[in-house]
Amino acid sequence: MTSRGTDAANKKRVIFCDFDGTITENDNIIAIIKHFNPPGWEPIVNDIIGQRKSVRQGVGELFRLIPSSMEREVIDYAVGNARIRGGFEELLAYSKANDIDFYVTSGGIDFFVHALLAPYGIPADHIFCNGSDFSGERIEITWPHPCDDHCSNDCGMCKPAIIRRFPAEQYTRILIGDSVTDFEGAKLADLVFARSHLIAKCKELGLPYHEFSTFHDVVEILQQQEANVR
Ligand SMILES: [Mg+2]
Ligand SMILES: [Zn+2]
Repeated sequence: MTSRGTDAANKKRVIFCDFDGTITENDNIIAIIKHFNPPGWEPIVNDIIGQRKSVRQGVGELFRLIPSSMEREVIDYAVGNARIRGGFEELLAYSKANDIDFYVTSGGIDFFVHALLAPYGIPADHIFCNGSDFSGERIEITWPHPCDDHCSNDCGMCKPAIIRRFPAEQYTRILIGDSVTDFEGAKLADLVFARSHLIAKCKELGLPYHEFSTFHDVVEILQQQEANVR
């Protein structure tokens, strides 16, 4: 066995899993905005995806387009519209059985993230996402997990800041994601599972990644790696 293999065997695996477009098949923020279609949303979305506007700024602006009086409709639509990607329960079961820490690191919003994850028994302190405030005239997004001193990306929910709490010497850090909110985290991770925009970004940055379309794919690759390392 190589020394690298021995190191990997001694490390604990930890998964940081995105929510929108990863655990759910579609991006819930985009789905909400498209459905309620407030004037002016399209340039904001384009600026976020093109990284001309930070996620925190852009997502804040998008929700400010919607009046708080629509709270019930917005929540019902988001929760009713989302579909969980195949194999999610299998990945959770695999993580549990193999002592892998599983965290949801989401740039999504509490009112749909927690509601949609409720059936899966993930502890609340293993779910990181943004908050929401419907008390004013417009929906205001709140940001309880901001960037740390090492990140100037204005993430909103800062995945690198969360990942840094798990030192590379002790953990094999696995990121699963699809888009803009995952770009910075992917740079830090030891292992990246990517779909959609994150694939293009990994190619651009020269980061190794595994493409996935369901969580069954992810479990399969994790099992192969386990077999190689041990
Ligand atoms: Mg996503
Ligand atoms: Zn950040």
